Amino acid sequence: MLYDLHCHSNASDGKLAPVDLCLRAISNGVTHLAITDHDTLSGWQSLAEVPPGLSLINGIEYSCVWSGMTIHIVGLGFDSLHPVMQTGLSRQLEAREQRALIIDERLARLGFKGGLSAARIYAGENQIGRPHFARFLLENGHVNSMNQAFDKYLGAGKPGDVKALWPELHDVVSWITGAGGLAVIAHPARYKMTNMKLRRLIQAFREAGGQAMEVVSGSQSRDVTSYMAQLAHDYELFASQGSDFHGPGSPWQELGRFESLPKRCRPIWESGVLAVS
Ligand code: AMP
Ligand code: MN
Ligand code: MN
Ligand code: MN
Repeated sequence: MLYDLHCHSNASDGKLAPVDLCLRAISNGVTHLAITDHDTLSGWQSLAEVPPGLSLINGIEYSCVWSGMTIHIVGLGFDSLHPVMQTGLSRQLEAREQRALIIDERLARLGFKGGLSAARIYAGENQIGRPHFARFLLENGHVNSMNQAFDKYLGAGKPGDVKALWPELHDVVSWITGAGGLAVIAHPARYKMTNMKLRRLIQAFREAGGQAMEVVSGSQSRDVTSYMAQLAHDYELFASQGSDFHGPGSPWQELGRFESLPKRCRPIWESGVLAVS
């Protein structure tokens, strides 16, 4: 069995259609997959059927704020039709729309006009995100790469990093757990927090009812993995793992390709909660 519990389809900022994501997962040996698009279920919900050989676990990656930072919380195994989940999804849709207007204004003030209409075209029928604005900056020659678009204009602390509209950590945790799912701190090492701040985040997450954290996320060093395993142990959280695959090639990690959970972890699939459809 190989679980990949974090990846993106083109319903958010991934490159592949949900069916192609499933087929690629199967050919990489994944047996259990959660498609965790940003703030939407529409990717995996659009599948006519799950290709044979793969178990699909209901998934999402919610955006929220905690202590002035944008934090991502993965939800797994929830009842997608539960009213609290529906409330959460519509709040996030609204937040993304409002945020896009503000990002557009801020970029225009920097002299980059027309961001929103371009971003809407790139997003098509999907929700708008910062990667669409990054593509606008790139295709108009304002930056040389997507990375530079984030570094200069859209990443943490830059003008296009609008956090105010996201819900609080405890809200998103309650949407997931209220719908019978497991809440998981996504890629804890990626926030570049001090150890003390990361421990405070985990404590707040636990107090909100969160049950798990990603101990293995994409490609990370052994040292990071073993520190994450220690934290999961200290705070009695289940350990999750996922590639955070967005598309073939760099900088994204391939589906199903990551090191295994350290032995002392309690794997999230042993919680008995992950409903498989
Ligand atoms: P959003 O959910 O709209 O705030 O967009 C955040 C997404 O942008 C993240 O989930 C990443 O997939 C993507 N992203 C963040 N930083 C970078 C970067 N430096 N280069 C390319 N994509 C990035
Ligand atoms: Mn993403
Ligand atoms: Mn994330
Ligand atoms: Mn992700």
